[in-house]
Amino acid sequence: MPYRVSVLLCSLALAAVFTVIGWNLYRQVDAYFDSEIARNNIRFHNIYTVQNEVQARRSQALAYSISTHTEIQRLFSEASEAARNDRKHSGNLEGAHTARVRRIFQGQVKRLWDELHGNHEVKHLQFLFPDGTPFLRMDAPSIFDDTYVAERPMLAGIMRDRRPRGGFEVGHTYAGIRGIVAAERAMPDGSERLVGFVEVGFDMNALLNRLDKQLDIGMALLLDSAQVSGIMLERYRPATETRQSFILAASRPEAADWLKAGLLPVRKSALQDQRHIFPWKGRNFHLIAFALDDYRSQLDPQSSPPGTVLVWRDITTRVKRLDEDRAAAIINTFVAWVFAQIFLFALLYVLRNVWERQLKRNTATIEKLSRHNALLLNTAANGICGIDKDCSITFINRAALAMHGFRPEEVMGKKLLALFYRHDFDGGADPEKISPVIQTMKDGMPHEAEEWLFRRDGSRFPAKVAVTPILEQEQRNGAVIVFHDITEQRNRQEALLQLATTDSLTGVSNRRHFLDLLDAEQARHRRHHGQASILMTDLDFFKGVNDKHGHAAGDAVLSHFVHIVRQTIRRSDIIGRLGGEEFAILLPGDGTDGAFEFAERLRRTFENNPTRIGKTLIACTVSIGISDLRSGDKSADAPMRRADVALYAAKAAGRNCTKIYASAMRQTDFGMKATKSDRSKQ
Ligand code: GH3
Ligand code: MG
Ligand code: MG
Repeated sequence: MPYRVSVLLCSLALAAVFTVIGWNLYRQVDAYFDSEIARNNIRFHNIYTVQNEVQARRSQALAYSISTHTEIQRLFSEASEAARNDRKHSGNLEGAHTARVRRIFQGQVKRLWDELHGNHEVKHLQFLFPDGTPFLRMDAPSIFDDTYVAERPMLAGIMRDRRPRGGFEVGHTYAGIRGIVAAERAMPDGSERLVGFVEVGFDMNALLNRLDKQLDIGMALLLDSAQVSGIMLERYRPATETRQSFILAASRPEAADWLKAGLLPVRKSALQDQRHIFPWKGRNFHLIAFALDDYRSQLDPQSSPPGTVLVWRDITTRVKRLDEDRAAAIINTFVAWVFAQIFLFALLYVLRNVWERQLKRNTATIEKLSRHNALLLNTAANGICGIDKDCSITFINRAALAMHGFRPEEVMGKKLLALFYRHDFDGGADPEKISPVIQTMKDGMPHEAEEWLFRRDGSRFPAKVAVTPILEQEQRNGAVIVFHDITEQRNRQEALLQLATTDSLTGVSNRRHFLDLLDAEQARHRRHHGQASILMTDLDFFKGVNDKHGHAAGDAVLSHFVHIVRQTIRRSDIIGRLGGEEFAILLPGDGTDGAFEFAERLRRTFENNPTRIGKTLIACTVSIGISDLRSGDKSADAPMRRADVALYAAKAAGRNCTKIYASAMRQTDFGMKATKSDRSKQ
């Protein structure tokens, strides 16, 4: 892979990694913010719930302390009595007596009311008759004759069992957290008589303002119009307000604006666990809304709460910090990426330099080795070439090219066998099939052989060829062929053979070689049972030739005799010099008759053609003995011995004649010496 592509891919991978890191950091910042919001949702909900409970207890405690005041008990008892009497006489209408007692009672309670109202956040103080009818509302003295026990479960409850109750409740004139207790007067007989109920309710605005101050949060209570009595609506809902909800109490003015703008949830909503953040007049607010549970909905989870509690915080700075944190996550990741990228570039640059230096060193080493190899290949006297799996030439040295007469471009990539081997040279076995090259390619083993290789001009030369397989990771990947021209070696061998088998003076087979040939002919004769004869010749009085003309002349006579024999014999006939001036001639295919004819022709030709040396003619004759080859002959000795006997018979007969061996002939008859009779052993 090119360096630039590698750098690009590494950089892309790095960028991808940092994108993921950046994205995760960004999400972590958001997740932290979300968890903070969720924590605050729970926290403010809990705070309100606890405050609700505390206020309910406080209101009960206050109501209780009022209910135990003896003067109040007395007056209240009196009022109850008056009201009972009034009702007895005038139905449900309030009489003058009750009204008088109320005025006195109001006067008595006024100081207490002023104190509670002015300094203790009390907004509602009510006294009710035991039948639940309001007697006196200090916060609304003019309203007293309405009955609404059915609408107020807290009142209905205490009327039932006289046990104190507390909680949020929406009444006719007051909605808020209140507590109600039964006022019971101790009677002289020790019993306790119910004189009525005392109810204390707190100012919700005061509570919300206190929490606002302590916690720096905006708070508002939203009442559902449908669940509120007409009097309440008139008292609290602005005349222009036509929405389904209206604000009962609020610590900050923006709640009213949001309600008008439709930003607030109309009913209690599921916002509690949501991240409800919205901008308002250039600020950001986090709004929490949860159900405003009242006494009824606390008792009965099925009944719907009368409104919604809203809590909000100005989180402009926090949102700004969130944006800053997000930007920091991105910028920090980007900066880290830039550094990492620079580091990557530097690292890759350094690595490339190191690799390049290493590569250069390795290349130099390889080049050096290649040069050495080339030098070795090209200076080697042997021809060396390499082939691949398809026998195509992959390299070749100068010696091989010189031996074959090719130029490099004419052989590289070409098939070795087609170039250096010929199928149709001598009609023998296809050289490709027996070539060591093929054998090595087949069995993966080294092979060597002597074979004919061809030159570009079609001529051939004998070569010793050694083939070694190229094994790479146990795979056969071609072979190396090393060969050298063995023409000279062959010539030397042939010369030696010639020397070992021929007679140097006459050029015919020497004695040993002739006996070998005779053996072979005898074997063939035994197989095919044909005819064959052997002639034994000896020049007559040759000693005398030597004596008279000299040894060299004797040699010339010997050569001349051989010359005449060669002119007389057939191609298949074989002549050998047994020693001195004795020659043997093997005539395969001739019986003794044919051999006799031949011998006579030879004898006469020799007799009639004296040897010429300069101007001198040297006459010489030859005596010839003949024997046939017999299938019973155990060795070459037997026919030779018989022909020898016949030769001596010819000598004995006066020389210059031919005799055929006959069984009657005996060596001793012709005065043959023991040495002569045993020529074959010489
Ligand atoms: P015969 O008719 O009985 O055969 O008489 P001969 O003289 O030929 O007697 P013999 O065969 O015994 O003598 C052979 C002679 O041939 C003896 C030797 O000096 C001579 N001679 C042997 N080898 C050579 C040779 O290579 N060159 C020459 N010039 N003479 C040889
Ligand atoms: Mg002789
Ligand atoms: Mg002789």
